Amino acid sequence: MILMLFGPPGVGKGTQANRLTQYYRCEKFSMGDILREEVAIQSESGKKAESHMIQGVLVPDTLIFEIVDSFLIENKANGILFDGFPRNLNQAINLNTSLSRLNLRLNLALEMDLDEREISARLLNRRYCPVCNRLYNLVSNPPRKDEVCDQCKKPLIKREDDTETVIQKRMQVYQEETAPLTKYYKSLNCYQKVPAIGSEDDVFNNIVQVINAHNLKK
Ligand SMILES: [Zn+2]
Repeated sequence: MILMLFGPPGVGKGTQANRLTQYYRCEKFSMGDILREEVAIQSESGKKAESHMIQGVLVPDTLIFEIVDSFLIENKANGILFDGFPRNLNQAINLNTSLSRLNLRLNLALEMDLDEREISARLLNRRYCPVCNRLYNLVSNPPRKDEVCDQCKKPLIKREDDTETVIQKRMQVYQEETAPLTKYYKSLNCYQKVPAIGSEDDVFNNIVQVINAHNLKK
């Protein structure tokens, strides 16, 4: 099975992607992780990617799809979960071409859906410890003592970009980028919205239910 998971910033996508990968024993494709790995082992594509990253420019799609194609060939037998990739319509179309070439197709594009107000409430309650970088949420995952790290006993800090204005801007960018993706995957008949309200476990169960309802083979 080949799945794609996407959702707005702050929705908890990373956590769910990791849990799903473990649960279905499939391979996770996260562009950021894979680029870092390729660079670390200094593979051919890693070296090329690094030269772009050093210059601070985007890694071009041709190189990205060299990496995608070899990932597909290597991991197609295990099932793949695309975590936040493709990011735009162009990449989605290219991915579809790559999959077709291997006689594969994307079974489900799952969008984690959460009310904008709920997202900003979550992000506004995020805090981190400046010493050990541990993350807290004053509502869902509070420290034992008010706004102080459990471990280091240092006062917690709010990320500078977790402000109402920045969050709204990030949401707007997300909507603009993903609206064409949503439309495209609807046209391919593989788009599914999953409610992302509730606890981490609730959301995980929602996603698993949707996936299992499709009776996908590994
Ligand atoms: Zn700490």
